[in-house]
Amino acid sequence: MNNTDKPNQTAQTAQTGTKCVWAGEEGSFWKRSTQTPVVHSVSFGYDDIMDWQKVGRGEADGHIYSRNTNPTVAVFEDKVRLLENAPAATSFASGMAAISNTFFSLLEPGDRIVSVKDSYGGTNKLFTEFLPRFQIKTTLCDTTDHAAIETAIASGCNMLYLETPTNPTLKVVDIQRLAQAAHQQGALVVADNTFATPILQNPLALGADLVLHSATKYLGGHADALGGVVCGSQALIDKIYHYREITGAVLDPMSAYLLLRGMKTLDLRIHHQSHSALLIAGYLENHPHVTQVFYPGLKRHPQYMIAKRQMKAFGGMIGFMIHGDFESVSRFLPKLKYAHRAANLGAVETIAGPPATTSHVECTTEEREAMGIPDNLIRYSVGIENVDDLIADIDQALAYTFGL
Ligand SMILES: *Cc1c(COP(=O)(O)O)cnc(C)c1O
Repeated sequence: MNNTDKPNQTAQTAQTGTKCVWAGEEGSFWKRSTQTPVVHSVSFGYDDIMDWQKVGRGEADGHIYSRNTNPTVAVFEDKVRLLENAPAATSFASGMAAISNTFFSLLEPGDRIVSVKDSYGGTNKLFTEFLPRFQIKTTLCDTTDHAAIETAIASGCNMLYLETPTNPTLKVVDIQRLAQAAHQQGALVVADNTFATPILQNPLALGADLVLHSATKYLGGHADALGGVVCGSQALIDKIYHYREITGAVLDPMSAYLLLRGMKTLDLRIHHQSHSALLIAGYLENHPHVTQVFYPGLKRHPQYMIAKRQMKAFGGMIGFMIHGDFESVSRFLPKLKYAHRAANLGAVETIAGPPATTSHVECTTEEREAMGIPDNLIRYSVGIENVDDLIADIDQALAYTFGL
């Protein structure tokens, strides 16, 4: 859909804030519109049958049917791809569709995945409930025990699946170190970059073969569209794309448009949210009724040095534990004025919730306990509000909860 007279010029060399605005959208579009049009058309018509055949065979640019490719969706894929500095990308109806399609397109019966215990709840369900039915085994290692992960990799591994920082306890995994170990075994390395976003972390540059996102979260940033995306080499993306075009978990063009619009401010949002989160984490650390704070930007965070090395800032997600149990969490949360109590994260509004009803709702209490997710933990997704208002808000809610 881009005007081919105006190829992507700035996107390759520009910084991330400029890419967020321009990457994939440098040409002029239909009827000279400056904004990417939403092409709802299911199919694309050809009067010349030879032209149609060429497009169908991939010998000429164009679209045939929107379950395969769609112009609006293609622009979204291009923008994420350029932000991750990847040769290719393909998109999905949701983050979980991106993750499951990646597994089912690249793995075979008898294969073994090595991953970490702290992966996203839905991903954990794929590991424990669905993949075993296809004789694909997953070994889940202690997330921060890098030596144990390396040992698991060395005993046979076809795919290393990483997530960093993790949800909801913000553990940090050394992508470069573990990717090296995995490549010695000839394994593929896949990284879920949803929490860090391409603004703060580029797993491909650290050795990963594929990077994927729940675009529903920070990429879109406005909690109004679901989506997922995977970036990597053309050969790997071709395989994943082919599985998706047949199984059909495609991104809707309207959602692609909403995600694209959200992404224009991604760089602004992420830097603002990271800055606020660091201040909020510092405040929480000094509060007498907060028993523990999980934020990779705190110097006492066990993987602070790894985070400092592989991320440009520490992101907008905070986990913290307050005195008491689920009872105190239930008193605290409703008192917050500037937070949705909801299951998503990464939006312009602050969002707070207990992992028991958000990221790990799919898991039983026992499973959560085994993952080190206690009932007095709160997941706090920092929005773009003024940070002084957020700190004052948390302060009054804690004061109410503990009768100060
Ligand atoms: C939300 C999330 C997912 C799943 O994405 P959906 O768009 O909800 O399917 C995967 N990984 C992480 C880290 C997430 O936060």
